[in-house]
Order: sequence, then C-alpha cells, then structure tokens
Amino acid sequence: MYTLGIDIGSTTSKCIILKDGTEIAGKSIVVAGTGTDGPHLALEEVLKDAGLTRDDIACTIATGYGRKLFEEAEGEVSELSCHARGIHFVFPDVHTVIDIGGQDAKVLSLNEKGRMMNFVMNDKCAAGTGRFLDVMANILKLDISQLEVEAAKSENPASISSTCTVFAESEVISQLAAGTNLPDLVAGICQSVATRVASLVRRAGVREKVCMSGGVARNAGVRNAMAKELGVEIAYNDMAQLMGALGASLYAYDKIKSGENTAQ
Ligand code: ADP
Repeated sequence: MYTLGIDIGSTTSKCIILKDGTEIAGKSIVVAGTGTDGPHLALEEVLKDAGLTRDDIACTIATGYGRKLFEEAEGEVSELSCHARGIHFVFPDVHTVIDIGGQDAKVLSLNEKGRMMNFVMNDKCAAGTGRFLDVMANILKLDISQLEVEAAKSENPASISSTCTVFAESEVISQLAAGTNLPDLVAGICQSVATRVASLVRRAGVREKVCMSGGVARNAGVRNAMAKELGVEIAYNDMAQLMGALGASLYAYDKIKSGENTAQ
C-alpha cells in the first residue's frame, strides 16, 4: 500500500511516497512553493520517481504553509506535527529539532515518544531563515548549494554585524568592495544565521540529541556553525528537507490503517 505526503512550503514543494508506512518509494523537491504550480509538479515528479500513478496512492495528506489550498489531498496535518513525526521516524533518539525553512525557523522539543512538547518560532524576521541565505547567494551570484562549498574554504570568517537582512545586504556588498574574500564572507553569512537561530534554540532548551531539518540544514556551513554555537553535535540526514513530507505520508498511512480497523 502506498501513501503520499506533500509539504507545500513558502519556497519549495516536497513529496514523499511510502510503501506500507515503512519504506521510501519515491521523493521529490521542486523549488516553487505555495501559490505556484510547484505542488503539482512535485506530485508529478514523485509519482514518476516511484514508477506509480495517482490511482496507486491509497491516501494523500498535505502539510506546510500552503496545505489548505491543495485540494487533491484527503486531509491536512500541521507542519509542526508532521515534522515531529518525520524526524522521530528517522532519528528516534532526537529531543531537539532545529528546523530552518525559507521564511521561518522553528525549534521543537520532542519527548521520548517523538511527541512535540514545546516549540518556539521566528516568523517575523528574515534574518535567521533561508530567505537571508537566498538574498546573500543572489548578491554573490552563487547557487544556494554553493554556499557550503565556499564556507568550507574559509580560514577567517568575516563578521556580519547587521542583524537585519536589508542592512546585512549592504554590509556584504561593502565588504566585497573592500576586498574580503568570498569564502570568508560566505562563512560569516552562515555564521550569522546560526547565531540568530541558536538564541531561539537556547530559549527552547537544548536537550540532546539535537538535529537540524528544513532546506537550510542542507548547508554544512550553517550546521557546523550551529554545532559550535551550541557546543553539541548536530545530527543530519540527507532527508532533512523532506521531514515534513515524510511525516505527512506517515499520517496518511495511519489514516488508512485506522479506517481498516473501523471497517473490521
Ligand atoms: P519552505 O518549506 O519554507 O519552502 P524549506 O524547508 O524547503 O522551506 O527550505 C527552503 C530553503 O532551503 C531555501 O530558502 C534555501 O535557503 C535553502 N536551501 C534549499 N536547497 C538548498 C541547498 N541545496 N543547500 C543549501 N540550502 C538550501
């Protein structure tokens, strides 16, 4: 039996198809979020990846910022619940989740069973979110995936003192003009995101094991800076951006299973 989870974010649409609630049969990531054709493209891509058609899918659950606008799903579940569920599936011993997406950052505290006990969130300011990195990558004419490559070459990370994205943008342009080398500048940019989000993590409480999820977790420069800031190891898996979609697919599996139980 196949179930599908779709996570419609502010910038990116992500899908996971699970076989029998345990095995990943297909995945897709399309860089176009809510209000675009991203969700439908992601749906097409994941079916192609799994070699399936819509008729093969027993249930679809939507999550993420744009979940309410997606009519093809049988239900919707909040992104916090889906994230917690997906993370617990991949990392059963994680207690603190640092999720940095395209327009917000959240820190979730999970109990032993993977249930969310508490969360803190920044959705007011672009600094400390993927948006900050997207703006900086654009100024530096780098692809977002190149930031970690440049940061890894840095020997002396630049200090970005502005806490506001708009001011930091001018600061980066001035530092470039003043001759700061690219790797040091990029490392400083990654550090700036980590510093901002680390204060959110401290507010939530740092209970190990700690992991990072969301698109920004794909950037090793931010992960390493975060590990140093918090003085803990950061667990990471290449499914990081797909945790919400994974959780949604697990909820879709539950929905079918509970329906079967009722029918019995
Ligand atoms: P949302 O759900 O809000 O759309 P995501 O969790 O999908 O957010 O994360 C999107 C962010 O992830 C982008 O704003 C971008 O900064 C970052 N990102 C996406 N792909 C990569 C990559 N390959 N390397 C580093 N960062 C990435």
